Amino acid sequence: MITGAGSGIGKACAVEMAREGAEVLATDIDRESARSTARDSGPSASFLPLDVSREGDWIGLAQRVSGGGGLDVLINNAGIGIGGDITALDLADWRRQQAVNLDGAFLGIKHMLPLIRDTGSRGAIINIASVTGIRASATFVSYAASKGGLIALTRAVARQCAAAGDGIRVNAIAPGIIDTPMFGGLEGISPEQAAQARGSAETLVPLGRAGSPRDVAMAAIYLASDEAGYVTGVTLPVDGGLLTG
Ligand code: NAD
Repeated sequence: MITGAGSGIGKACAVEMAREGAEVLATDIDRESARSTARDSGPSASFLPLDVSREGDWIGLAQRVSGGGGLDVLINNAGIGIGGDITALDLADWRRQQAVNLDGAFLGIKHMLPLIRDTGSRGAIINIASVTGIRASATFVSYAASKGGLIALTRAVARQCAAAGDGIRVNAIAPGIIDTPMFGGLEGISPEQAAQARGSAETLVPLGRAGSPRDVAMAAIYLASDEAGYVTGVTLPVDGGLLTG
C-alpha cells in the first residue's frame, strides 16, 4: 500500500513493486492519478483516493483492507514541499506541511500497523523522508522539520515493533535531488529558486546527476524484502552521495 502513488517516487514504487509480483494498492489525494498508476502497474493493482492528513480516510481504508487480503508493506510517501524564510511562514502553512508529511505518516502507521500484524507475514513499513531531514537547508525550514520528525518517528516505531517481537521492520529512505514533478509544485519559493534546486544536481551531487524515481523505488523494494530482514530503524540515503560532503 503506497500513499502519494499518483506521481513521482510513489508511482515508481507502485510500478516496480508490481513488477516484482506485489499486489499493489495505489492511493493518492488525486483520484485520477492514483487510478492511472494502478493501470500502469498491471492487472493485480488497485487504487483508492486517500488524503493522508485525514484520519477518516485511514479508518475507511483500514475497514476495506481488513475485509480483503491483508497488508504486508506500507509506504508512507505522500509529501508536499513548502519553502521560504521562517519569519514569513504562516502558521497555517507550517501546520499544513506537518499535516501531510508527518501527521500523514503517523496516521498511516497507527491505522495500518495492526493490519500488518494481523496479516502475520512480518511485513515492513517504509517512510519516504529526505536528506533535508538530516542536513540543514536554508530554503526548506518547515519541510526539514517534518522530515527530521519522520526520521525520529521511524526509529521510535522500529524500536516499538522490535520490542513487540512482531517481526515488522520500520525504515526510512532519504532521497536527495530526484527528478519528479515535485519541483514544479514547491510552494513559498520562486520558480527560479525551484529550478535552481533541481538544476544544481549536476554540480552538487557527487554522482553528477539527479536521481530518478526508480532509483528510490529500488531501495524501497530492498527494504520491503526478506533480504533486508536484519535492517530496521535505519534511514537509507538515496542521494548520489550528496550527504558525504
Ligand atoms: P510528487 O509531487 O511527484 O508526488 C507527491 C504525490 O503526493 C502527488 O501525487 C500528490 O498528489 C500526493 N499528495 C500530496 N498531498 C497528499 C495528501 N494530503 N494525501 C495523499 N497524497 C498526497 O513528489 P515526489 O518528488 O514523488 O515526492 C514523494 C516523496 O518523496 C515526498 O514525501 C517528498 O517529500 C519526498 N522527497 C522527494 C524528493 C525529490 O527530490 N523529488 C527529495 C526528497 C524527498
